[in-house]
This record gives sequence, structure tokens and C-alpha cells, in this order.
Amino acid sequence: MDTTEFRRRGKEMVDLIADYLENIEQRTVYPDVEPGYLRSLIPEEAPEDPDTYEDVVKDIERVIMPGVTHWHSPYFYAYFPTANSFPAMLADMLSGAIGCIGFSWAASPACTELETVMMDWLGKMLKLPEDFIAGTHGQGGGVIQGTASEATLVALLAARCRAVRMILASDPQRPETGITSKLVAYSSDQAHCSVERAGMIAGVRMKKIPTDQSDKYAVQGETLRRMIQEDKAAGLIPFYFCATLGTTPSCAFDHITELGPICNAEKIWMHIDAAYAGSSFICPEFRPLLNGIEFADSFNFNAHKWLLVNFDCSTMWVKKRSDLIGAFKMDPLYLKHDHQESGRYFCTDNSLFRSLKMWFVFRMYGLKGLQDYIRKHVELAKEFESLVRADQRFEISADVVLGLVCFRLKGSNEVNETLLKRINNGRKIHLVPCLLSGQFVLRFALCARTTESRHIREAWRLITQLAEEVMQELPH
Ligand code: PLP
Repeated sequence: MDTTEFRRRGKEMVDLIADYLENIEQRTVYPDVEPGYLRSLIPEEAPEDPDTYEDVVKDIERVIMPGVTHWHSPYFYAYFPTANSFPAMLADMLSGAIGCIGFSWAASPACTELETVMMDWLGKMLKLPEDFIAGTHGQGGGVIQGTASEATLVALLAARCRAVRMILASDPQRPETGITSKLVAYSSDQAHCSVERAGMIAGVRMKKIPTDQSDKYAVQGETLRRMIQEDKAAGLIPFYFCATLGTTPSCAFDHITELGPICNAEKIWMHIDAAYAGSSFICPEFRPLLNGIEFADSFNFNAHKWLLVNFDCSTMWVKKRSDLIGAFKMDPLYLKHDHQESGRYFCTDNSLFRSLKMWFVFRMYGLKGLQDYIRKHVELAKEFESLVRADQRFEISADVVLGLVCFRLKGSNEVNETLLKRINNGRKIHLVPCLLSGQFVLRFALCARTTESRHIREAWRLITQLAEEVMQELPH
């Protein structure tokens, strides 16, 4: 493909994308295919001679679309959202064209510098404490990761490094393996599974802190304090706590104003995982949910979930850049450059120019546009909550704080499991479940940018219709 053809095909592709998104609600939100469906639709091997662009485009509808779950359909209510906006898509095109990799400042100065400044912009939108802002002289700052799971792991590895160095500083003879085998990290029993996996990768114990319904599934200070004391008495070394703001099952918020001072006093690294909820903190009415951030060592959320910046863009801040840089520093000759010692920039990351999409989105929506977007989803969630509450057969299973509604039919898990199966088999709307205090619960998450009240009401009509059927068939 030469430049002339690229100009033409590029415009056609933009039309194809616009048509896809404009008409997405006519598609079945959840694909009706069996595992392995795709292999039989394409050759076993790459073509020896080139295919034409027309051939490739023709196969999008034949091969790809039948197996696509349409995350941006207004009938998609599963998981948590993943962002999708036109400014971000355009920025991604440019990023692909520039095609640089920002592994050091010198590798592409604009890439590294824009990332630092965008993370400051976003940090200021969130009203993060000054400590997390890089500015021109700050000790802290932000760096983009691919996912929240990566951020949790990066923070855990940095915390492990800091803990080992602190102990070695006072006891230089102690063997390092003797220290790491005693390290213990904590997170909520509601934390995302990636936190437990981070512990496995880092080779440290990860203990789950129990929560319960009466405390709205939030980790309590007293519980953490007790576990730390018990572990210290048993000779273990507590070093990391991952708090969650907006848990995956029910969007619960750990009490970081209580937990933070405990971590600080015990020299435990507190990381905050706000993968979904973090975007909402740009609204003053939701910002109190982040109170206590001043006690954290690191904080992360996925701008690619709910802030209109397409995947991947998981934004992570630390109070001390030196904690990360020190933990991961590599110094080969081929990475040396004349501005090495400025120390202003993180380069923990080998990515394309991801900050370009933040720049496009922040400028073209403005803070107000982004706030409106968050508020609209929260209002729609409240609308759905009212529909559920108005129906005596159903109950709400957790407080609706943001854009997630956890609900169930009053009755057995079997009834609720059957209801969800019917909903998803119908393929008109798509939801996933969670387990709260042993109860099977349906999660209704506001996801698509284009979801409106009429979609919510249609979804509810469908859910109640299917519930009627299920309740007639099964004892509840
Ligand atoms: N943490 C929380 C609270 C989440 O809800 C999720 C995903 O929904 C994750 C972490 C994992 O995010 P990622 O897929 O970006 O690793």
C-alpha cells in the first residue's frame, strides 16, 4: 500500500468505523459462536502472495464480527466499561504513525514529556496532593501502565525492594532471601484477582483481609491492625497493603482514611487500586471517596475504563519517583544519553505514544465534558436502581455509589443463576454476576458512551419478562 492508496483506504476505514459505531445497537451484543469458530473460516497459513485490501475488508463481517462482543453497544452492561471516544481513536492513529517507543527520554522526548505533563493534568483534575505531581521540581509524578494489574504488580515490586533495602540498612548481614521469605502483603477479600496474582509473581505471601456486608464490603482499620500485629508476633514482615476504591464485585470502598495512618506508622507501602472508580474523582461530589490519598505511596486507575481514553491507559502515580526508578533501574550503554541525570522522567514503560490520546481527549472534552459524562452514567445507574427498588420481587444487594447496580431476585441462587443464563442466552443485553456473602448477584454496569434512558428501560423490561418466566418454572 502506497501513500496514495493509504489516503483512500484510511478515509474508507474511518467511514467503516463510524458506520459500525453508529449502528452498533442493531447488532447482537453477545456473539453466538462456539470455541474454535474462527479457525475454520480462515486458511491454516498466511498467504504466500498478498491479498488485496478489499479481500481483507470483506472478511471483517464474515470472520471477525460474528465473534465480537460489542462492548460499545448500549446493551452491554457487563464487567466495567472500557473507554471509547473519537478523539482517542484519532490520537491512536497518529500514535501508530509516529510509532516511537518511549523507553527513555532520548528515545522520543515528546513522548516522555507529554506523558509526564498529561499525568500532572489528570492528577490536578483529581485534586491529588501536591506530592503526586511531578511539575518541574516534584519528587512524585505519574506514569502510564498498560493495566491496573500491572500497576499493582509494579507497586508491589517497588515496595518489596524498599522493604528489603530498609531492613538491610539496619542489618546488613541479614541474607536477602531470609527477608523476602518473611514478607507479607495484604488486600481485601474483595480485591481484584490480579492483586493475589501479583503476590504470586513477586513470590510473597498475600493475605486477604475479610470484609462483610455490615461494613459494606470495605476493609476496616481495626481488622488490618489486628492482622499486622499477629503477623509481626509470628516473625513476619508486613510491607504492602493494596486498598481498593471501587471493588470489582460491588464497587465497595476501603476506609483509606483509617487504613492509611496504620500503613504509614508501620512503614507499609499503601497502594490504592481504583481501576474503575478513579475516573469519577474528577467530579467534586465524588472526590471525597478519595480522601486519605495523602497516606498512599501509589495510586492507580484506568483512564481507559471510564474517562473516554481508549485502551490502554492505566494511570499510576507515586509519591516518590525514586522508589520506582530505584527498583527497576537498568543502565546499559545503549540507553545512555546526555540528559540522563535530569531524573525528571519515568521510563518504566515500553509503549507507543499513549499520552497523545489523553491530550486529545482532555482538550476536546474539557474537564466539564468529562464530568458530564461520568455524571450521566451515575444518573442512569440511579434510574436503573429505582426501577429495581420499585419491583417487590427484586432487591438491591449493595449501595449504588457510581455506575454499578448489584441486584437479584429475592430467592435462591439457582433462580438468579437461571435468570442470568436466560438474559445472556437471549443476547439482547449482556451482564455478568458476582458473589456477595454467598449470594449470586447480577451486576448491571453502565458501560457504553451512548447508553440512554431508553436502553436502561428496555433492559429492565427484558429482565422482568425473563424473571416472570423463571419464577413460574422454579421454586424460589
Ligand atoms: N482492579 C479492579 C478494582 C478492577 O475492577 C479491575 C478490573 O475490572 C482490575 C483491577 C483489573 O484491571 P486491568 O484489567 O486493567 O488489569
